[in-house]
Amino acid sequence: MTHPAVEFRDIEMRFGEKVAVTGIDLTIGRGDFVVLLGPSGGGKTTLLNMIGGFLEPTHGQVLIDGRNVTGIPPAKRPTATVFQDYALFPHMSVARNVAFGLKMRRVPAQEQQARVARVLDMVGLGHLGERRIHELSGGQRQRIALARALAVEPAVLLLDEPLGALDMKLRRQMQDELKAIQKRVGTTFVHVTHDQEEAMAIADRIVVMNNGFIEDLGDPERIYLRPVSRFTADFMGESNFIPGKAAQTRDGRTSVDTALGRFEVPGEAETGVEVTLSVRPEHLKIDGAGQSLGVATVRETGFFGTHHQCSAALDAMAEPFKVRLPQKEIIEPGSTVPLSVDPSDLVLLLR
Ligand code: ATP
Repeated sequence: MTHPAVEFRDIEMRFGEKVAVTGIDLTIGRGDFVVLLGPSGGGKTTLLNMIGGFLEPTHGQVLIDGRNVTGIPPAKRPTATVFQDYALFPHMSVARNVAFGLKMRRVPAQEQQARVARVLDMVGLGHLGERRIHELSGGQRQRIALARALAVEPAVLLLDEPLGALDMKLRRQMQDELKAIQKRVGTTFVHVTHDQEEAMAIADRIVVMNNGFIEDLGDPERIYLRPVSRFTADFMGESNFIPGKAAQTRDGRTSVDTALGRFEVPGEAETGVEVTLSVRPEHLKIDGAGQSLGVATVRETGFFGTHHQCSAALDAMAEPFKVRLPQKEIIEPGSTVPLSVDPSDLVLLLR
C-alpha cells in the first residue's frame, strides 16, 4: 500500500504560552510540489521544521511515508532541507559540499562521486565541482544547496524561503528551474514562502497559513479564482470587497443584496446571513459589459508595464475599487467611468 509523503494528524505546537500552530490535519501526496504560503508568523516554518525533525509537536503526529517519525532526529529522517542562507561550507569545494550528506550517511565513495556528478548536472553546474563556495554567485550557491539536498535522495525535500536572498529577476528564473527539477526528479517538495506570485508559479498545491491555522488549501487556480475567505482573497493578489446579505440560494447560485444592487453569484449561503463579495481588479470592466456597479470617479492611476491600474471611487462604497485596465487604456484622474462586472467573477465569501 502506498502512503502519502507526509501526514500531519491533529498537530499543535506551543512555545510556552504561544500557540504557533493548532488543529493541523494535512496530507501531502507523493511527488507533489506543495507550497506553505502566508504572512510572517503564520506558522509555515514551524510546520516545515516538524517534518524535518527540528521541532517535535506538542500534540499530534507527523507521518512520513506512513511512518510515525515522532522522536526521530533530523539526520535519520528521509528528508533534506534547503535553507534560505544555504548553510554551505565556504572552505570546501562545491563537490565536497554536495557530497557532505552522503559522507554522513556512509555512502560508498564511488557512489558518492556518481551522485555528486549527477545532481550537479541536474542543476546545470557540472563544470563547477572544484570551485570554492565564495567564488560562486548567489544563484549558483542556491543551486548547490539544492544539489546537496537532492544528493541524499530524500523522500521529501524541504525548502525554507530558498529564493529569499535572490534579486527579483533571478528569483523568477530560479522558480522555473526549481519547478522543472522537481518534475524531473519526482521528489515531494515542501516549500515555504510569503511570496504569493512565487507560490502560484511553482506549486501543485498551496496551503495558505494564517495565524497558526490552515486558511485555505488547493491548486493555485482555485485559490486565486475562488478563495474561501476574505483573508485568502486579500493575501493572494488584490481584491475589492462588497458587503452584502444573502437573499436567496437556488441551483448553486445565491442572490446577494448589496449597496451596489443585487447580484446572482456562484456559491451557496443561508438566507439572511451577512456575506462579502470579492472581485479581482482585472475582473472589473469599464466598457459596460456585464452587470453595472455604478459610475465611478477615477482617483489615482499608475502604469505597471503590462497594464494600468487605477483606484475608482463609487459613492456607495467606503473604499475606492482597484481596477486593472489594458496597457493602451489611458484614463485621467478626475474622469468618470461606468464600472461593471460579470457576476460569475464575483466570489461569495462567508468569512
Ligand atoms: P516567517 O515567515 O516570519 O518565518 P512563519 O509563518 O514561518 O513566519 P513561524 O516561524 O512558524 O511562522 O512562527 C509561528 C509563530 O510561532 C510566530 O508567532 C512565532 O513568533 C512563534 N515561534 C516560532 N518559533 C518560536 C520559538 N522558538 N519560540 C517562541 N515562539 C516561536
